[in-house]
Amino acid sequence: MVAVMQEEHIDNAREPIRARLAAWWEANARDLPWRFGRATPWGVLVSEVMSQQTQMSRVVPYWTDWMRAWPDAAALAKASTAEVITAWGRLGYPRRALRLQECARVVADRYGNVLPDDHDTLLSLPGIGDYTASAVSSFAFGRRVAVIDTNIRRVLSRVLLGVESRGGAATRFERDLANDVLPADVAKSVIWNQSVMELGAVVCTAKKPMCEICPISEQCAFLAAGLPGLGERRTRPRQRFQGTDRQVRGIILQALRRRHGADGASAGVPRAEIESLWADQGQLAACIASLDDDGLIDILPDGSLTLPR
Ligand code: SF4
Repeated sequence: MVAVMQEEHIDNAREPIRARLAAWWEANARDLPWRFGRATPWGVLVSEVMSQQTQMSRVVPYWTDWMRAWPDAAALAKASTAEVITAWGRLGYPRRALRLQECARVVADRYGNVLPDDHDTLLSLPGIGDYTASAVSSFAFGRRVAVIDTNIRRVLSRVLLGVESRGGAATRFERDLANDVLPADVAKSVIWNQSVMELGAVVCTAKKPMCEICPISEQCAFLAAGLPGLGERRTRPRQRFQGTDRQVRGIILQALRRRHGADGASAGVPRAEIESLWADQGQLAACIASLDDDGLIDILPDGSLTLPR
């Protein structure tokens, strides 16, 4: 019975939702520099990789500097690893930067510096998962493909099913739903993906959805049901940042970036200087080892540390 009611709601609501979201997108989309045809497909890909785990508004200055330094895959392929890690700055999860450079090398060498435009080839590139391949296919190449990220899952689940999307890996059901409501028209499918994602980023947020200004509040089954279980998640809450290995790794990399910026990485940062950065020496040593394993630092024979050359 519930499933039948949901189906009925989806059938009745999909057209009004599409129309309202398209109008809302037209008037409210944030003017990010990689949108509205102003960036190359490679630039769109860079924006998507940077935006994983990082808010888009925070990404803008990094993306702008990055694209100025390395406007295409061939330019990034030639950069030194130290430059790449330095430019990644505080975007977090710096292994993404190394994977992006690996991807750039493949695009430059194997595809003549032209980002492939078909989904399967995109998926075969280093560091490109299903979400990124779908986002680039839709946003850069205008293909009809359902993009499924956390924001889109949350909005679709709330509006169409009336329940909270509770995290974890996307289920088959969520994928089917996203494909089912994707407009058949190619151009409209791109606007749909962008507008649903944008609504999830700025209005229908995880903890405090702003239903009072939401363009599709009239169609929202979650609002009608009284926002049941708002903010509940299936996955564990995020670990606090303070005291984590992520924090320690960030502190070490920041010290190496500073040195790299100051003298172009001619010398390493002495081990004693690194050891003064964090009290728990066991944790510090483990973080140095993991950064080394990840290819994010080099350990010189005298024990000092540098960004990879
Ligand atoms: S009405 Fe509220 S819960 Fe529903 S989509 Fe809009 S912001 Fe989200």
